[in-house]
Amino acid sequence: MPDGSKVELDSAITVNCSFAVELLDWVREDLPGIVSREKGKLARLTGVGGHACRPRNGVTGAPISEHATGNALDIGGLQLEDGRFVSLVGSAGATRSIRAELKTSACARFKTVLGPGSDASHKDHLHLDMRQRPRDYKICQWNIE
Ligand SMILES: [Zn+2]
Repeated sequence: MPDGSKVELDSAITVNCSFAVELLDWVREDLPGIVSREKGKLARLTGVGGHACRPRNGVTGAPISEHATGNALDIGGLQLEDGRFVSLVGSAGATRSIRAELKTSACARFKTVLGPGSDASHKDHLHLDMRQRPRDYKICQWNIE
């Protein structure tokens, strides 16, 4: 991180190089400011998933997932240094403002943001990817409770 601290992932993931750059920029440039407004400091990204060779949502016959080319990240929450956990899918009142800011920043950086409220496959995690679509069309679907 810019201040020399480290942010861990709860498991090692593989993503492609251009996605890794986007992800690092989001983590280094956007997340510290968002969590600091709650007087928190980011320690770990939890529930992370990267490369997975499968069709979308694991549905046989569906188009190939962005995860299959390492162009996507799944994430469940943010662990703060003081022990607090910011669930990206829960409805805890204390973290609602953080989730709202995370949605704004994620939707500005990534081409696809799918969270709770988008479809049944994303009710328990946030999906971020850099899928290119005609006319740079982006999808931002995440209902903040
Ligand atoms: Zn995903």
